Amino acid sequence: MLSCRGYLYTVEKTNDEKILFRCKNCDCKGRCKTNLAMDTILSEPTEHSHAQTIDQLPVIELRNKIKSKAANSEEVTNAAG
Ligand SMILES: [Zn+2]
Repeated sequence: MLSCRGYLYTVEKTNDEKILFRCKNCDCKGRCKTNLAMDTILSEPTEHSHAQTIDQLPVIELRNKIKSKAANSEEVTNAAG
């Protein structure tokens, strides 16, 4: 499973060089390609016929990270002052 820009993808095909992903939504023609490590997009996602799927994405995790970072910087400021 791959999440990219608010959309979820499942593996459709793999070969020696890349992985072809198709949108998790069967009715949608959204496709993208990544390298085998899945850390580089080789082919930008094509257009989707539906809204983004945000519910399963690590948005919450990201927010928590930002929050804790802010808390840390506050601590540092206090210590310095
Ligand atoms: Zn789609």
